[in-house]
Amino acid sequence: MTVTDAATGSTATRGRPWASEALHRADPQIADLLAAEAERRAETIQLLAGENLTSPAVLAALTGPLIDKYAEGYPGRRHHTGCALADAAELLAIDRARDLFAAPHANVQPRSATSAMLAAYAALLRPGDGVLAMSLEHGGHLSCGSRSNFSGRWFAFTGYGVRESDGLIDLDQVRDLARLHRPKAIVAGSISYPRHPDWAAFREIADEVDAYLIASAAQTTGLIAAREAPSPVPYADVTVAATHKLLRGPRGGLLLSTAELAERVDRAVFPFSQGGAAMNEVAGKAVALAEAATPAYRAYARRAVAGARALAAGLAEAGMRPLTGGTDTHLVTADVSPLGVTGAEAERRCAAAGLLLGKCALPYDPAPAAEASGVRLGTGTVTSQGMGEVELSEIAGLIARLLAGDAATPVAQRVRELAGAFTGAFVGA
Ligand SMILES: *Cc1c(COP(=O)(O)O)cnc(C)c1O
Repeated sequence: MTVTDAATGSTATRGRPWASEALHRADPQIADLLAAEAERRAETIQLLAGENLTSPAVLAALTGPLIDKYAEGYPGRRHHTGCALADAAELLAIDRARDLFAAPHANVQPRSATSAMLAAYAALLRPGDGVLAMSLEHGGHLSCGSRSNFSGRWFAFTGYGVRESDGLIDLDQVRDLARLHRPKAIVAGSISYPRHPDWAAFREIADEVDAYLIASAAQTTGLIAAREAPSPVPYADVTVAATHKLLRGPRGGLLLSTAELAERVDRAVFPFSQGGAAMNEVAGKAVALAEAATPAYRAYARRAVAGARALAAGLAEAGMRPLTGGTDTHLVTADVSPLGVTGAEAERRCAAAGLLLGKCALPYDPAPAAEASGVRLGTGTVTSQGMGEVELSEIAGLIARLLAGDAATPVAQRVRELAGAFTGAFVGA
């Protein structure tokens, strides 16, 4: 079905470009898997925080002829010939990123936000340097010091966290740890924190101890683009963004920096940590960045936040506890233990009824990490499909019924109905 965005009148459908005869002939197994995946999506409500729908225009650019172009290096200084048009596409992407985020410098080549984090560290640090970042237990990403990730192996991480009383980042602790450890870099940003970091305060602390400030802003890149979140760009030396989450572009990363660091950032991507750029992804990023500059996209971002607030309010009403009491973003992280279930059990029960959300360990979580006391949800995908506050309030109620142990069948039925009504639409481009 086609949903029209009431706020903007804009609408689109994504089609099925992958359902081609050629693929079916060449590889029926993969063709069948893709068809089944499309069906799975059509029957479920997707609330995983980092997922979204790639815009139809971005999908088209991703499958365009630049997919075959080898283009090591940067526009005007490539290691391969025949790059004039690839250069033009990358320059468009760079200009659009700089304009959209008011950044002196942009690098559009990182293949993921984690690769972009690697490049940010490589641009600023040497192995063994100290880094102060949000601890993994309180919402830091793997790239913020996990021992199983390059970051934790190559740098000496110290973790800060949120206060137990209100769930907000404890800036006094950040300042104390910065003074004590004198890190070479401080990282602000999280995968599950539902409020906006105080970028100016982080900058002040970094300045006091002469540290670089890295903004790990992958989760909220789209909100920053839409001016629905304060931008870290004026404060951070390097900002790490993601193009596939709220921005609805290709799976990938983006680095924004000061002019002084431009050369170091570029070298940290190529040749230090990547080879040839994926030029189809670069073209797709250019398209996504252009779309994100439109009033329709801004309306989308506002709706994603309003929907998340409705979801958080609904969960709270049913006895769950949203971290920090609510949200300023498209994310909700909620303690489900008051309902007598673990995060893992909540994830299982909801998935069985077609509602996809993620278990999430909470700060100060008494449960073992594999079970966890919380769940994390995001409104990126459902808002792209045209759902709004009304549907998200209802979804909160459906989740509450599942966790309270009500009969799952009627809930699953309603989930299928809702999913079916909104599948295929793409709002806000
Ligand atoms: C999503 C996310 C990442 C990882 O992104 P990938 O593209 O999967 O590597 C890193 N940091 C933060 C804060 C994120 O939200």
